[in-house]
Amino acid sequence: MKKVLVINTGGTIAMSTDAQSESVKPMDDHVIEKIVPFLSGYADIKMLNPFNLPSPHITPPIMNQLRLFIEQEMAAGSYSGVVVTHGTDTLEETAYFLDLTLPFELPVVVTGAMRSSNELGADGPLNLISAVRVASDPASRNKGVLVVFNDEIHAARHVTKTHTSNVATFQSPQYGPIGTVTKKAVSYHHAPLDRECYKVVHADANIPLVKAVAGMDPRWLTFLLEEPIDGLVVEALGLGNVPPAIVPVLQQVLAKGVPIVLVSRCFNGQVQDVYDYAGGGRQLKDMGVIFSNGLNGQKARLKLMIALQHTCDPAELQGLFDH
Ligand code: ASP
Repeated sequence: MKKVLVINTGGTIAMSTDAQSESVKPMDDHVIEKIVPFLSGYADIKMLNPFNLPSPHITPPIMNQLRLFIEQEMAAGSYSGVVVTHGTDTLEETAYFLDLTLPFELPVVVTGAMRSSNELGADGPLNLISAVRVASDPASRNKGVLVVFNDEIHAARHVTKTHTSNVATFQSPQYGPIGTVTKKAVSYHHAPLDRECYKVVHADANIPLVKAVAGMDPRWLTFLLEEPIDGLVVEALGLGNVPPAIVPVLQQVLAKGVPIVLVSRCFNGQVQDVYDYAGGGRQLKDMGVIFSNGLNGQKARLKLMIALQHTCDPAELQGLFDH
């Protein structure tokens, strides 16, 4: 039987609903262990609980700690795959961080739950079973980190949380899931064309993410000029344009040698230097802003954090974001 390592990090899948207050919180440290007998039909499970955090408490340094933990455990045991259980709020960020930094061909699958363990229709147990099935399937090898949720398999690079409460919250806008999990099989419809993997030492760069809005006031950003920031990600409008009032601040940020990565607040498509007006993509490109390749803001921030450990050269950074 295949051996699968399950690493629990917390989130709703590890929480319960308190009957009196009707609030959801961690109440029983062994909630996920209770699912193990149902997993044993699919794989030989080793379960570890390095931390139990709601995912808004997860930080990039914790993601990096998790990456190291997985590497150490994988070196110590002979596993067919790894499953990470995680809160859904920042699940896509941890999944993408691991995707960019884990050098494995073996499947690494991230899952969680939208409903706590004792709610009617709790989705955690089935998501975990599906994740174990995907992690132990040889067809899942070399596809990057996968997110398995609600019978679908998504690539970490494209998946995002799209609904506050629905169990079908994880979607890959523009691309769709790469596979499905049915009662009988794990099946893939397509696969990522290539993979990116970077060595990472730390994950503590200070990189704010700001969202452009109509009528944006530059004073919302000027304080950043006094802050020790390592980079800045701007979630621009549409094809990659910003209100002209913030351009002078962006110019000053760049003049300090701080790289700016541009993404779109649209959840489909890529940013491009097409519009040639004040604040348009052409002006931003000419200023030296790095255009990202369809990543959302939260993922571009993590990628910049990792990329800056390899180069600070704007042209090389652009090359990494063209990938
Ligand atoms: N707020 C929870 C968390 O991310 C949501 C979840 O796990 O579904 O930890």
